[in-house]
Amino acid sequence: MALARVSSSSSRLLLLPSSTTSSLLHSFLRPFSTSHFSAPRLSHSRSFPVDASFPQTSPLPSTAREEGEVTEEAPRPTSRRPWKPTCLYYTQGKCTMMDDVSHLEKFNHSLLLDLPVNASAADKAKPQKLDYFLVLDLEGKVEILEFPVVMIDAHSMEFIDSFHRFVRPTGMSEQRIGEYIEGKYGKFGVDRVWHDTAIPFGEVLREFEDWIGGHKLWKQKQGESLNSAAFITCGNWDLKTKVPEQCKVSKLKLPSYFMEWINLKDIYLNFYNRRATGMMTMMRELEIPIVGSHHLGIDDTKNITRVVQRMLADGAVIQITARRHPDTSEVKFLFKNRIR
Ligand SMILES: [Zn+2]
Repeated sequence: MALARVSSSSSRLLLLPSSTTSSLLHSFLRPFSTSHFSAPRLSHSRSFPVDASFPQTSPLPSTAREEGEVTEEAPRPTSRRPWKPTCLYYTQGKCTMMDDVSHLEKFNHSLLLDLPVNASAADKAKPQKLDYFLVLDLEGKVEILEFPVVMIDAHSMEFIDSFHRFVRPTGMSEQRIGEYIEGKYGKFGVDRVWHDTAIPFGEVLREFEDWIGGHKLWKQKQGESLNSAAFITCGNWDLKTKVPEQCKVSKLKLPSYFMEWINLKDIYLNFYNRRATGMMTMMRELEIPIVGSHHLGIDDTKNITRVVQRMLADGAVIQITARRHPDTSEVKFLFKNRIR
């Protein structure tokens, strides 16, 4: 009943002129936001977008597809909350249409909606050694094209924040970049937003460092690893292979926060005693519905985060599985039983 009331009140709000709706929506919807989703820790002071609980009254018609929109499935078939595609300008801090009611109506402006935590989820959860997880799933075979990170609280499992950038290759001609992006992102209909927003890897890392600094996860000191946080990747490729390769191409020193990580496949193997070759296998075995487009980095990252949330709820202790020696660059794997 509460949901129906939200829908009807916001339908009325949609009729207001756009110049007046933003602040009104904020004040009207705030009580609903806090009742439907529990807030993250205040120390991280993440500002909730006003439309975090903005309901959509009807499913998006297929004719309404726009640039930056991604086809996704509803997280739960039984969910009464209608699903909206994510605004990929917003995820990169570059949406200029937050006052446009029809834009807000069409696009989701909060990753929180795809990463809900069940009230009983903590019942079986075990104490964790780390406080935060940074789920990362890079895209790009020749050079990195997308750098998406989802941050969750290791104890409450709740979504805290995200960092998402499309990455412009540095060692490629414009023509080759165009073909590469058409082939990679054209099929999702997000090649335009890629071209509008992509920045070189060095800039991405500088912005990422500001972001982890803002969350007090890292200080720019010589050789500092993350503070009570770790990356989670699906496999070792992202941080063992791809980031060091990209740093060479971009003529950057491998940053100290990339020296250790958690390979979710190893945790999965040791916890469930089953080998999973990839994210899709894990999701199938755990019967977690997929959201979004497979191989769009931000969507894969959301889906891996959903697996992490489930594993935490099932009682897994998620800890570092691989560590790189800062001088020799040699990678040591910390689990005896691991995916090779
Ligand atoms: Zn937007």
